[in-house]
Amino acid sequence: MKKIVVVGGGAGGMELITKLGKTLGKKGKAEITLVDIANHHIWKPLLHELATGSLDEGTNAVDYQVHGANKGYLYQRGALTGIDRENRQIILAPLYSADGRLILDERRLDYDYLVIGIGAISNDFGIPGVKEHAFTLDLTEQAMILRERIQDQFMQHASGQRQGKMKVAIVGAGATGVEMAAELHHMTQTLRTYGYKLEQDLLDLTIVEASDSVMPALPKSDLRQSVHDKLLELGVKVSTSTMVTEVTKQGLTTKDGQLIEADLIVWAAGVKAPEVLATLGLEVNRANQLMAADTGRTLSDERIFTFGDCASIPQEDGSFLPPRGQTARQVALMIGTNLTRLLKDPNAKLDRYVYKDLGSFVNLAHFNTVGNMFSFFHGGLQVVGCPARFVYASLYRRHIISLHGPLKGSMILMIHGLNRLLRPQLKLW
Ligand SMILES: Cc1cc2nc3c(=O)[nH]c(=O)nc-3n(C[C@H](O)[C@H](O)[C@H](O)COP(=O)(O)OP(=O)(O)OC[C@H]3O[C@@H](n4cnc5c(N)ncnc54)[C@H](O)[C@@H]3O)c2cc1C
Repeated sequence: MKKIVVVGGGAGGMELITKLGKTLGKKGKAEITLVDIANHHIWKPLLHELATGSLDEGTNAVDYQVHGANKGYLYQRGALTGIDRENRQIILAPLYSADGRLILDERRLDYDYLVIGIGAISNDFGIPGVKEHAFTLDLTEQAMILRERIQDQFMQHASGQRQGKMKVAIVGAGATGVEMAAELHHMTQTLRTYGYKLEQDLLDLTIVEASDSVMPALPKSDLRQSVHDKLLELGVKVSTSTMVTEVTKQGLTTKDGQLIEADLIVWAAGVKAPEVLATLGLEVNRANQLMAADTGRTLSDERIFTFGDCASIPQEDGSFLPPRGQTARQVALMIGTNLTRLLKDPNAKLDRYVYKDLGSFVNLAHFNTVGNMFSFFHGGLQVVGCPARFVYASLYRRHIISLHGPLKGSMILMIHGLNRLLRPQLKLW
C-alpha cells in the first residue's frame, strides 16, 4: 500500500490529514501518517489567548493519537531532522521526556509521498538578546510558560511585593502583537474582578513596530487607524517607525538610542521557517522556506509537497503567498486533492493554487474586532464590532468542523461556548 506522510499537524496539516484519513486511510487506499513534535493540536491563532488564560487548553486541544484512530490516520510523535530521499525515508530525532530521559531512539519512516507543513518560528533578525530575554508565541509550551510568568507578575503586584507599574513591551504590531496587548488589558480587568488588588492603570504597555503603522498587513488605512485608536484608548503606547537594536534584561534599546524599560517582553516581530528545513537538501529561500510550485510540489523533489508558513509558493503576479491561516488551510487541502490524483496516476495533472484573500481580522479581546472582507473586490468591505467578531470566530468554527465533521464539530463548539459561559473567564492554573 502506498504511504503518505504529513509532517506538521497545525492549522493546515490537521485539515489535510483529516481529509486524507477520510478519503484514503479509512478506505484502505493508502497508509496515512502524521508526524508532529507535539502530542496535541491547538489552533495557532489562539495561542495569545492561551498565554493569558482566556483559552482553556484542556477543552481546546485535539489529541493526535485519538483523532487519528477516529479519522483513519496513524500518528508518530517526533521532530523531523532529515530526509533520505534515495530510500524515501524521513528521519525523526530521538524523543526525550521533559526531564531528559530517552523515550524513543532515532526513527526512520518510509514514504511514497511526503508533505511538509511545519509552520514558522519567530524571527529575531539576529538582534542580540531576543533569545535570552523575550518570550515568543510559536508553540503551546511557550504560551503556557508565558502565562505562568504573566500570572506571577500580577500576583507580585497584587500582594504589594512588586511596586510601580507592570512594564510590558511587545515588539511587532501585527495580529499577534496587537491581540496580545488587548488580551493583557482584558486580563488585568478580569483579575481585578477576582479580587486581585491591582491599580486600574497598572499596565504600562508599549507596542513597538518597525513600519509606520500598526497592522501593516491590513489593506485599508482606516482599519489600521481604528486598531491604533483602540489601542490608545486602552492606554497602550504605540511606537511605530521604531527599530529595536538590542533586547536586554532592562528592556528594549532602539536605533535612536532610547531605552524602553520592560519587565516582560514579547517578541512578535515576524516569522521565518524552522532552520531544519535548510538542512534537508531541498531548495529553500532566505527565510528557510521550502521553494515550491503553485501545485504545492517542491522544486527539488516531485514526491515532496509543502504548504503554509514554511512554504514559499509563487502567485501569478510574482509575489509569494503570505504566512496566514487561510493560505495554509487552502493549499493543504489542494495538496490532498493532488495526492489523491497522483495515487491513481503518477502523471496526473495537478491543481494549481490561486490565492483569493477572503479577508483579515484582528480581535482586540472583548474590546472590539475589526477586519476587511473580500479584499479582491474593489478593496474589500470593512467590518467592525459584532459582525467582525462573528466572522473572526467563524474561522475557528470552520476549522473545528473540518477536523471533527459537522455533527461532532457542532457539539464540540457548543461545549466550548458553554465552557466559556460557565468557567471563569481566565484560567489561573
Ligand atoms: C498569536 C497568533 C495569532 C495569529 N492570528 C492569525 C490570524 O488572525 N489570521 C491568520 O490568518 N493567521 C494568524 N496567525 C498565523 C497562523 O497561525 C499561521 O499562519 C498558521 O498557523 C500556519 O499554519 P501551518 O499549518 O503552516 O503551521 P502551524 O499551524 O504553525 O503548524 C505547524 C505544526 O508543525 C509542528 N512542527 C514544527 N516543527 C516540527 C518538526 N521539526 N517536526 C515535526 N513537527 C513539527 C508544530 O508542532 C505544529 O503542530 C497567528 C499566529 C499567532 C502565533
